[in-house]
Amino acid sequence: EYQAEIIAVGTELLLGQIANTNAQWISKQLAANGINVHYHEVVGDNLKRVSSTFHLAKKRSDIIIVTGGLGPTDDDLTREAFQEVSDMELMEHEESMKKIEAYFKKHHTEMTDNNKKQARVFKGSTVIENKVGMAPGMIITHEGKVWIFLPGVPNEMKSMFTNEIIPYLYKITGQKQLIQSMVLRFIGIGEAKLEHELQDMIKEQSNPTIAPLAQSDGLIIRLTVKADSERQASHLLKECKNKILTRVGKFYVGTDYETIEKKALFMLNQRKLTIGTAESLTGGMFSQKLTSVSGSSGVFKGGIVCYDPQVKTDILGVSTELINTKGTVSYECASALAHNVCKLLKTNIGISFTGIAGPTNIEGKPVGTVFIGIANDKGEELVEKHMIFGDRESIRRKAVLKGYEILFK
Ligand code: ATP
Ligand code: MG
Repeated sequence: EYQAEIIAVGTELLLGQIANTNAQWISKQLAANGINVHYHEVVGDNLKRVSSTFHLAKKRSDIIIVTGGLGPTDDDLTREAFQEVSDMELMEHEESMKKIEAYFKKHHTEMTDNNKKQARVFKGSTVIENKVGMAPGMIITHEGKVWIFLPGVPNEMKSMFTNEIIPYLYKITGQKQLIQSMVLRFIGIGEAKLEHELQDMIKEQSNPTIAPLAQSDGLIIRLTVKADSERQASHLLKECKNKILTRVGKFYVGTDYETIEKKALFMLNQRKLTIGTAESLTGGMFSQKLTSVSGSSGVFKGGIVCYDPQVKTDILGVSTELINTKGTVSYECASALAHNVCKLLKTNIGISFTGIAGPTNIEGKPVGTVFIGIANDKGEELVEKHMIFGDRESIRRKAVLKGYEILFK
């Protein structure tokens, strides 16, 4: 099995001025072609540091892909650094030279010696023509290792990689294993509990690999499989998914693009139910999420952002007495909001959110206190109190997710 390493050269990457999108993109291509990437390195435009990075790569990787530092300026040092590592000789590449000369002639500008530098390639390398820019790329086999040098400019790099490098890699690795992944979405279960439930599988299973990840809208598990065919891949993924769902299926939302809001819309549609919202602390976030799904108009009638108590009383008909005795953040207020919005908007279901997102406590109740109410046109209701931890934004976000959870009850 070949082990690949990607080295991005450029001080601007270290300064955070640009993101290393080259490595990300190349990794994805390699993964799709069944080549394992073991390291990403970023190194600045410094001869000593670039060559020591190359020395390290030479020891630990079979395929080393380097982007950047092939250009005309003095800080483009990739060639010089590789020369130190390999003792290989540089020479002028005639075709590239002609191309550069032609470019300057066409633009009526004088070519400096620096520009000639771009046409230098290592003797014995396979030169990869740069159809989009100036500096050619190179493939070099040296002491049993494959070195691939590409320009840093993303569209030049991508074009060369797709057209020349991938076919080359197919040839040398002789494999065309494909890698597929699948995302399983969960809500209502914490990361620690999920990992606990699947501990043995996560540890022992390597194809597919199982990687849980906390996200802003719940938890995901990414399954990644290697297989010889699409059919085998989907079989292995399905098998693993089913095994996971026998353990934590209770919290399962869907795969890949099956989000919680899509699931909610689907369920409401199936039951032919319409919904209206009364949102205080969430400020419309629940409605926003639901309306982000196309087709939501058949289900979602509207919502009222009842931030101020006066809106709760004047528009949504919560009694002043209730607010004075129980407070806006209360079981009773959530219940009244849910029932009243249901009536006001003439929907089958009303959902309400009232709580304290912080940073300061109100009504003598702590930050994170949230009441969510659901009522229907038959007068039934379900109201829940939740204590949510986190900063203002995550309290709001988690409250919305809780709302979706309760909707499924
Ligand atoms: P050139 O011939 O244009 O000088 P080069 O091979 O010398 O190409 P660099 O000078 O390192 O490449 O980078 C050129 C440009 O490409 C940078 O200004 C940057 O915007 C972009 N770039 C370089 N490296 C990366 C990277 N790893 N990820 C994304 N963009 C990059
Ligand atoms: Mg450059």
